[in-house]
Amino acid sequence: MNEIHAANDVQAVAMLCPQCSSPALTRQNSHLLLEDPLDAAATCGGCGWNGKEKDLVALPFRHELGSDEGIAIALMNDMRAVIAGHLSGPVGKFLMKWGFLSSPLSTAEFSRYMSAIARSVLTTIIQEREKIEKEKANG
Ligand SMILES: [Zn+2]
Repeated sequence: MNEIHAANDVQAVAMLCPQCSSPALTRQNSHLLLEDPLDAAATCGGCGWNGKEKDLVALPFRHELGSDEGIAIALMNDMRAVIAGHLSGPVGKFLMKWGFLSSPLSTAEFSRYMSAIARSVLTTIIQEREKIEKEKANG
């Protein structure tokens, strides 16, 4: 058994749902029985997405501490805080102006829009990062 040395700069990969960026995934255990392990089924606990292992969004990143899943959750929470802290006013006005929200304001509906925006922004960042990594790999 190899001893695992505590490194303070660890390359890790988080697997996220391609639809909502949630790391709360259930992945099939029968990988070894399949010809292609990437064909294993995966289900998202966040939005109910069903698909295959190969459809998941892989997010490579470096971190100092914690599990890959913990980091993915922290990433999502941080993005939610950024969106809520800086965009709730302007986005609220936009949603009212164009009829996505009406008076009296439903805070539940507004919260749904805000978390959907945070998910989309994070997903877009992750996908763009993947493209950048691929371009680097291809020289
Ligand atoms: Zn999902």
